[in-house]
Amino acid sequence: MTDPLDLLDTASLLSEEERDIQRTVRDFLDDRARPHVAGWYDSATFPRDLVPELGKLGLLGMHLYGYGCAGTNAVSYGLACLELEGVDSGLRSFVSVQGSLSMFSIWRWGSEEQRTEWLPRLAAGEAVGCFGLTEPDFGSDPAGMRTRAVRDGGDWVLNGSKTWITNGGLADVATVWARTDDGIRGFLVPRGTPGFTTTDITQKLSLRASVTSSLHLQDVRLPASAMLPEARGLRGPLACLNEARFGILFGAVGAARDSLRAALGYADSRIQFDRPISAFQLTQKKLADMAVALNSAMLLALHLGRLKDRHELRAEQVSVGKLNNVREAIAIARECRTILGGSGISGEYSPLRHASNLESVRTYEGTDEVHTLVIGQALTGRAAYR
Ligand code: FAD
Repeated sequence: MTDPLDLLDTASLLSEEERDIQRTVRDFLDDRARPHVAGWYDSATFPRDLVPELGKLGLLGMHLYGYGCAGTNAVSYGLACLELEGVDSGLRSFVSVQGSLSMFSIWRWGSEEQRTEWLPRLAAGEAVGCFGLTEPDFGSDPAGMRTRAVRDGGDWVLNGSKTWITNGGLADVATVWARTDDGIRGFLVPRGTPGFTTTDITQKLSLRASVTSSLHLQDVRLPASAMLPEARGLRGPLACLNEARFGILFGAVGAARDSLRAALGYADSRIQFDRPISAFQLTQKKLADMAVALNSAMLLALHLGRLKDRHELRAEQVSVGKLNNVREAIAIARECRTILGGSGISGEYSPLRHASNLESVRTYEGTDEVHTLVIGQALTGRAAYR
């Protein structure tokens, strides 16, 4: 029997364990998040109380191993992202930033002391992390960053600012990237460090169920041990971003799938001209085109997930996945909104919320244009960024 949300039976490409993990995450979210998400979005609230529960489920730093992390394969992590974003991109963004940006930066580039101090608490959801790379004047081009760290005796002193930082106002620890005499280096800045403050960005029209903040660093004095010892140059933050992008290319499928579910349900029950609108050819064309795009995106995500589990995934392949899947997901969410007619602009239905969220998702972790240039460079051997 055909599952309209999985026309190609992509579930049959998953292992029993992967299916179990996906089901567990879906059941948890159906119970604890889905009934409340429209309200969170409306009131621009991130459900902070949910964080320890996400930790208990093993979703924080899920694909990392040791230090209290679940140590699943990459596909399972992707499927969790798919389910999270099927509720709201804000939830998936939290998990991506906590696991793939904050925790991964410490796990991959940190000292043993930094790992043991932070990773178990971050994995359990007892602490929140954020990742500060973007600055007011440097987004797509982080190499130009102005935040600076200078040596003063045995200490580091940081000055500068970061903006558009997910979880910034919630974070117990910020991974901050700064320019030093020795190139770009990463620093762990605990909340409460004198001179370190945050301001939440308000009036967002996208990703409203997520905290987005600016970080301000004024003469922030840190011990030498605050620097991530293994990260040198832009390779440090870029490796973290590649991890987070991987979660996004699955997550986008979740937002698209949830939109299609809403549109299918509505098209079946809405009667116009004496027939359900799903019986009209024009509606069926929309639904068929979206099912083709959704299933293709899922196959792409799974293929890239299998490559990642074989440690063969290249950065330009992640760019293909992020560019395609987010682009398709936005198109699907918008098209689903049209099927809902006027009801589509109500928060009662998810497609317009997903479409609006996906505008952030297409911008962060590399814009469409930046990923296009990454792919262009891989194809031609020529960098066209400047
Ligand atoms: P710009 O770089 O100014 O780009 C503006 C436009 O110019 C874009 O269309 C871009 O593609 C285009 N452009 C730029 N350069 C080129 C080029 N060479 N060729 C063609 N076109 C080009 N950052 C973090 O560090 N941590 C976070 O946790 C984080 N969370 C975020 C959450 C949200 C909700 C948002 C919206 C952003 C977040 N960001 C975060 C920042 C995000 O990564 C940046 O917004 C993104 O990198 C783009 O930078 P920008 O906004 O400065 O745009």
